[in-house]
Amino acid sequence: MKKVLVTGGAGYIGSHVVRQLGSAGYDVVVYDNCSTGSRTSVLHGELIIGDLADTEHLYQVFAKHQFTTVVHFAASLSVPESVVRPLDYYANNTRNTLNLLRCCSVMNVNQIIFSSTAAVYGEVKENPVTESVPTQPINPYGRSKLMSEWLIQDYAAASSLRYVILRYFNVAGAEPGGRLGQISANATHLIAAAIDAALKRKSAMQIFGTDFPTPDGTGIRDYIHVEDLATAHLDALRYLEENGESQILNCGYGQGYSVRQVISRVKAISGVDFPVIETNRRPGDPACVTACADKISKVLGWQPKYNDLDKIVHTSLAWEMYREGLLQSSLNKPMLHGKITFTT
Ligand code: UDP
Repeated sequence: MKKVLVTGGAGYIGSHVVRQLGSAGYDVVVYDNCSTGSRTSVLHGELIIGDLADTEHLYQVFAKHQFTTVVHFAASLSVPESVVRPLDYYANNTRNTLNLLRCCSVMNVNQIIFSSTAAVYGEVKENPVTESVPTQPINPYGRSKLMSEWLIQDYAAASSLRYVILRYFNVAGAEPGGRLGQISANATHLIAAAIDAALKRKSAMQIFGTDFPTPDGTGIRDYIHVEDLATAHLDALRYLEENGESQILNCGYGQGYSVRQVISRVKAISGVDFPVIETNRRPGDPACVTACADKISKVLGWQPKYNDLDKIVHTSLAWEMYREGLLQSSLNKPMLHGKITFTT
């Protein structure tokens, strides 16, 4: 059976990919330090608690299992935090990708799928953004990811490694069966903030900027459902297994929604008319970022199923309500398959 190593597989996106890998019959090993992820999110395969900085442990894991492919999620991902703690971001994101590539090199693993970000593009001059526009990240997070992309590309050019680098746009939503979703306590992204207000976890939410050059003055983003994003990883895996050549691919729908549009859908679907405070722009927020998603559909044959803002909001809200214990009767409880081992 084909064995896949998933670093960061206990996190938000990684755990959705692990579940889909399990459904598709893959043998999965998750390597995660559980600093932000949760062991209860790993619904398939074996979870090894470990850190990519611990190269000795990583080598042991590679030596014990024969991986055909590595899917690399493990990373720090907060832009404001990266500005305050840049060295931690370069260490955890860039250096640890180097550690992983060294292991791949020594252990002859020659397929990698890497989770990158639209943050590598920086200030976007023209939408939708294609993969070939120049990358000009404007914060340490984006630069730490771009440097990781370069490591992968340079090493691939000098070896038999083939890669698919996936650049995520705004990821949201939850597994529709209620088994998985985002568990981070301090999620700051828009849909999480609106849902927090709808569930009265806070008294109001804020709109950061109403003077952008967009139709309603608020920022526009391309929101992609986490299940569709997970499917893109399985498509990428099959593509590499069929000897596909290395690719960099945007992951979005090519459809933008403004902050006001998102808030209005959260209000309609939750049935709660929560207070909204209009305030200043957040530093570094661009007006509009949407993906050109033609390449991923063409190269991988990716066919999204949840390309609908209402589905994204609905599954996010259902997950958050489930977490609050409000919807326990109508959704499945999380089930833990497989085993957890502690080898550190
Ligand atoms: N946003 C907002 N209020 C919030 C969170 C976000 O108005 O509480 C806006 C933000 O300024 C941006 C959009 O929503 O225009 C998406 O922001 P998010 O943090 O979700 O993702 P980003 O695109 O910054 O990665």
